[in-house]
Amino acid sequence: MFCPKCGTQNHDNNFRCTGCGHVLQGAAPAPAPARPARSDKSRVAYILLGLFLGMLGIHNFYAGHSGRGIAQLLLTLLTGWLLIPLVVVALWVLIELVATDTDGMGLPMS
Ligand SMILES: [Zn+2]
Repeated sequence: MFCPKCGTQNHDNNFRCTGCGHVLQGAAPAPAPARPARSDKSRVAYILLGLFLGMLGIHNFYAGHSGRGIAQLLLTLLTGWLLIPLVVVALWVLIELVATDTDGMGLPMS
């Protein structure tokens, strides 16, 4: 490309003009690659896992919400025999299945 300031011909990859040091248009570093717009996780699979294995937090492990999954797993395994926590976890899972449509990266599940 030609420098718009002094007219010196520069290599296209040059960031600055070799003649005058003018910063050349279009030679700026490329922007970081955009992250994918959608998750590769299926929301249907998320809901099915939640319905069948939700008490163990499996759907959250699937979607990448590991913290929530671990909490549900531990609540069920450690306090499930008390029955009340079991009901709490079940309600939690149901609410989650309705409300969650993004994975652990914050990407919408397809
Ligand atoms: Zn120049």
